[in-house]
Order: sequence, then C-alpha cells, then structure tokens
Amino acid sequence: MKIDNNNVVSLTYDLYVTENGDKKHVESATTDQPLVFLYGAGMMLPKFEEHLTGLSIGDDYSFSLTAEDGYGEYDDKAVAPLPKDMFGEEPLPEIGSILPLQDNNGGHFQARVVSIVEDAVLVDLNHPMAGHELHFNGTIKDVRPATEEELEHGHVHGEGGHQH
Ligand SMILES: [Zn+2]
Repeated sequence: MKIDNNNVVSLTYDLYVTENGDKKHVESATTDQPLVFLYGAGMMLPKFEEHLTGLSIGDDYSFSLTAEDGYGEYDDKAVAPLPKDMFGEEPLPEIGSILPLQDNNGGHFQARVVSIVEDAVLVDLNHPMAGHELHFNGTIKDVRPATEEELEHGHVHGEGGHQH
C-alpha cells in the first residue's frame, strides 16, 4: 500500500538542522515510538507530506526542506514585550528560557525570552526552527487505510494516536 490521502502512516524520523555549517540533531521518532499521523489531514508540514507520497512500508526516505517550506523564515520583528506585571509575584524568567503562552483564540505557542528591559520581558515569537533548513530521514513503518471514524475526527485512533 502506497502513502496517499486518508492513510494512517507510521514512520521513524531523525530531524537535523544546519547551524553554522554543522548538522545538529533536533529530534527523532523511533521504531518503538514512531510518529503516527493521518496523511493529508493538514497536521504535518505540507512539503513534508509531499516528499512521502507514494512510499510504502519498509521504504527509507531522506530529504531536505528550505526554511520557507519548513517553519518559515526568521522574522526579527517577531519580538513582543510582555509586561512584567504578567508574572505577578513569580520570579522573572531567565533569558533563553521558553515560555508556554496562549493567544487570544486559545491556541498554544512557545516564546523564547531574549531580554529583560525596564518594565517588560521581551520574547521571540518565531518558531524555534524558523530560518532553518530541515533535514529529515527515516523509514516508513506502516501504512493503512484510515477508518471512517478516524476520517470523521481528522486524527488517528489507537496506538500513537488518540485514545478515546
Ligand atoms: Zn477521535
């Protein structure tokens, strides 16, 4: 069975970025805990899925995505001040730490503390991998048709997916 829309795909991957000419390992999914996702449901980077089209169980893959096709170019204007009041009695976060934040629509995102000024903590809102070319390699472990219910819900059920 070849990877196509409405398949549930399990795969291993290693993700590397290039930093100052060196390949740096960022994260991985292993055979024991593969990444399981509903192909074509818009959960993954579109170009990531595009590179996997037509592969079958047992196939190895290796490809790179430009920053633009990955998490976007780095935007040096995407720095926002958080008023110090926001932290109340809590100690101010350290420079370089990652803050879990919530936007007005309830979406979760992470911001990295870049500096602390008089009355505000400045955070970088870029995705941590923004501006980086992404290098992926791994193996396709399983491809199966999604169930009606999975398609309705738009996500995978069972192992590696939603347990409900
Ligand atoms: Zn569900």
